[in-house]
Amino acid sequence: MTDKKAKTAAPIYKPKGFDVKQRQLLVAGQAVQSLADHYGTPFYVYDHALCQKRVVDLKAVMPDFTHIHYAIKANPMPDLVAKMAGWVDGLDVASGGELDVALVSGISPKNISFAGPAKQDWELEKALKAGVVVNVESAGELRRLSSLAQKHSQRARIAFRVNPDFELKSSGMKMGGGPKPFGIDAETLPEMLRDISQKWLDIEGLHIFTGSQNLKLSAIEEGLVNTLNLAKSLSREMGISFKHVNIGGGLGVPYFPGDLPLDLGEVGALYQKHLNKAKQEMPGVQFIMELGRFLVAEAGLYVTRVVDKKQSRGKTFLACDGGMHHHLSLSGNFGQIVRRNYPLDIANKMTTPKQDFETVDIVGPLCTPLDRLGDNVSLPRAEVGDLVVVYQSGAYGFTASPQAFLGHQPPKEVLL
Ligand SMILES: *Cc1c(COP(=O)(O)O)cnc(C)c1O
Repeated sequence: MTDKKAKTAAPIYKPKGFDVKQRQLLVAGQAVQSLADHYGTPFYVYDHALCQKRVVDLKAVMPDFTHIHYAIKANPMPDLVAKMAGWVDGLDVASGGELDVALVSGISPKNISFAGPAKQDWELEKALKAGVVVNVESAGELRRLSSLAQKHSQRARIAFRVNPDFELKSSGMKMGGGPKPFGIDAETLPEMLRDISQKWLDIEGLHIFTGSQNLKLSAIEEGLVNTLNLAKSLSREMGISFKHVNIGGGLGVPYFPGDLPLDLGEVGALYQKHLNKAKQEMPGVQFIMELGRFLVAEAGLYVTRVVDKKQSRGKTFLACDGGMHHHLSLSGNFGQIVRRNYPLDIANKMTTPKQDFETVDIVGPLCTPLDRLGDNVSLPRAEVGDLVVVYQSGAYGFTASPQAFLGHQPPKEVLL
């Protein structure tokens, strides 16, 4: 009981940048209702200006010698990636398919890097030909890349993806430390390099990515300090002055009741302090931060229409035309341990007085109890035809969901 109370009392974060006019939620000045009537539901809508603002605001607080890369797996919509390419310093991709998107985005291939386990030969060849940096994940991959480079008489630009010998304590999703599919164990890297021919390799950098969805400043600082120390000691041990060190990022956004947004001023101060120091110790190094979610999540909404409203044994259900097949993480099935509600609204009934609110369960159209959009959520009283809007949906939505499940239509994607 007390647990439930604490949950409802926790503040619910809603992103800035979405205005309300005559009870209608607006995206980039357009009513969600008009977009729904025009495009049909369900759909994702992204406000490019909010993505741009996020990049600009971040750059303003970071040391000016730091490059910001966009990790496109967060949202690889080609039109959005092409816009992002104009604002960030580089793009990070995680597959041959994403590499195709990055290569037509307008960014110089010089500033693309390619990470991810199980890169196939055709993907490595594509990277070689394009001249992008391959973040090498294992000794085997390095050998394959080296022989492909020789075969095509094309030098390979590489960075070592390092599996650090520390673990990020309170990251939402750990990607480094302990045994991991990602990267080369830090302690084995100097030794490994001695056994591999470097004739066709241009060793350019290190890539240390420790985790994702981090909302705690102290954990971000700890990860940053450990990352910089590891980069320094590897550089010393291997006798290489790296051109660039990709220090990851993993900055999070608030999703659930009680989550608080990062304070950009504080984040900037922390990076200023540690990167300025590291820059003195490794003067020739280009530091790179790579971010996905933090740059795009808050600029996106998912919109679905109420198709049915029903009562069942004391509960009110809104059944919608969209759900977990479009937005897996909203349903709580994308790495979450406990299902919690994303911030929600009724897009065509904004500024409703509290006495006209109703507590509802919101579900999607799939025949599985996993298809949930909201549990016990208090919203303006909604009827069939009204529009449920899900905030914080610009990252890990459209392409991170099992769209073919149950054979429904895919959602549209609208970039404003
Ligand atoms: C997924 C991923 C990212 C992006 O993580 P976010 O939490 O979206 O910022 C960055 N780098 C690598 C290597 C990744 O796998």
